Amino acid sequence: MNVGSAVKEPGFRDSVDLMFNRAAALLELSPGLEEKIRVCNATYIVRFGVRLRGKIQTFTGYRAVHSEHMEPVKGGIRYAPEVDQDEVEALAALMTYKCALVETPFGGSKGGLCIDPREYEEHELELITRRFTYELAKRDLINPSQNVPAPDMGTGEREMAWMADQYARMNTTDINARACVTGKPLNAGGIHGRVEATGRGVQYALQEFFRYPEDLAKAGLKGKLDGKRVIVQGLGNVGYHAAKFLSEEDGCRIIGIIERDGALSSAQGLDVDAVREWIVRHGGIKGCPAGDFVEDGASLLEAECDILIPAALEGVINLGNAERIRAPLIIEAANGPITFGADDVLRNRGTVIIPDLYANAGGVTVSYFEWVKNLSHIRFGRMQRRAEEAHHLLLIDELERLSADKGLGWELSPDFKRRYLRGAGELELVRSGLDDTMRTAYQSMREVWHERDDVHDLRTAAFIVAVRRVASSYRAKGL
Ligand code: NAD
Repeated sequence: MNVGSAVKEPGFRDSVDLMFNRAAALLELSPGLEEKIRVCNATYIVRFGVRLRGKIQTFTGYRAVHSEHMEPVKGGIRYAPEVDQDEVEALAALMTYKCALVETPFGGSKGGLCIDPREYEEHELELITRRFTYELAKRDLINPSQNVPAPDMGTGEREMAWMADQYARMNTTDINARACVTGKPLNAGGIHGRVEATGRGVQYALQEFFRYPEDLAKAGLKGKLDGKRVIVQGLGNVGYHAAKFLSEEDGCRIIGIIERDGALSSAQGLDVDAVREWIVRHGGIKGCPAGDFVEDGASLLEAECDILIPAALEGVINLGNAERIRAPLIIEAANGPITFGADDVLRNRGTVIIPDLYANAGGVTVSYFEWVKNLSHIRFGRMQRRAEEAHHLLLIDELERLSADKGLGWELSPDFKRRYLRGAGELELVRSGLDDTMRTAYQSMREVWHERDDVHDLRTAAFIVAVRRVASSYRAKGL
């Protein structure tokens, strides 16, 4: 779907394939391998009935498996009325490249259910989700070693808990049953930091980008994140966390928030939590006193700012509006927000785009940690935390003893002692692993971006890194 484009453009899957082709043309892949990597291996479509409100309602669900060069395959499940085969196949392909880029050991998959979750009561959604899970699990399309879903648009911890429980009921002796989905609540086998992970990853991606003045210069920017003007589209899981962390921790000013029913703007910066609370309570952004209301929300995509963060859905920047986008830097928190055609227009104008397969990889990265935690049956840090504290205490005791012996009068501040002594818990370890992943992946992309004369943008660089890795997996399998 290309939101708001009057011009006929390729569909989402074709758009992803065209981006892949652009990078593959710069690689020397053996004959036939390029096509093998590009195509979606299989898509399962299921129509199932659920008795609701006195009658049977039929739902259509999908699970696409793009590449099984590594297993399990991984990818979210989306609940939205627009879900179709083209969309899940595009998203599954992006998962393949994303996992390769950030080195999570998974193939790519994606699922979806054609449903507007806002039209159903909680107990109805549970019935529908359990039935969908049953249909997928009985074909191993949910399985800890073969296919591991996660949340996406319209789904969250609650749906993942239902799915995990349904799978466990169907596989009562599977000791690894909890690893069948990620993004679960903590009390159902989840991990600290998963809910915030994708938005946190967007923050880490921007922090890393801002560490390189020459990369900033390509976007015509300089300085630090502090004070930069940001516009965010979509204040859901990803957009909310990205906006919150960037404003609270990096000093960015969120000057615009675009939602389904309009947008809010404020030159001084919006209070992200206040806007989010309003949306949760009122179901939309309209009437929120935090900023000025803009009826035609999407028009704010074209407003002047330093960083634009589309974090809602695909195709929102297309041939219909690309020429009018003024942001010098766009970070694709959503999957596929910029169409292939718009990408060309923006690249030619010098806009720097931090591409989706990198920018929103924080979710799958922390999902990987959760899956490992489920398979190892132990919380991260449980064995090391107190040992770490004991080691740090040794050092502090020794410093204080030396200071007293030599009459130096050194005193470590209580705040330093408290922070230094504390061993890392699960959340700190997860954030550290995520930060490291985002930095390493950025460096691998920028190396290609800067070193090759035929690569002019980060997206092509990201595809090159990812496709090379997928190709070497296939070669190792003898293909
Ligand atoms: P979500 O359902 O939590 O939030 C989506 C938000 O976008 C909602 O607030 C919704 O009201 C808003 N929205 C919908 N249509 C809109 C429109 N036309 N204009 C403006 N706003 C609109 O979903 P999410 O999990 O935050 O996912 C958002 C995007 O990020 C998707 O592209 C998804 O594939 C991608 N993503 C999500 C994750 C994750 O961990 N949740 C991981 C990687 C990528």
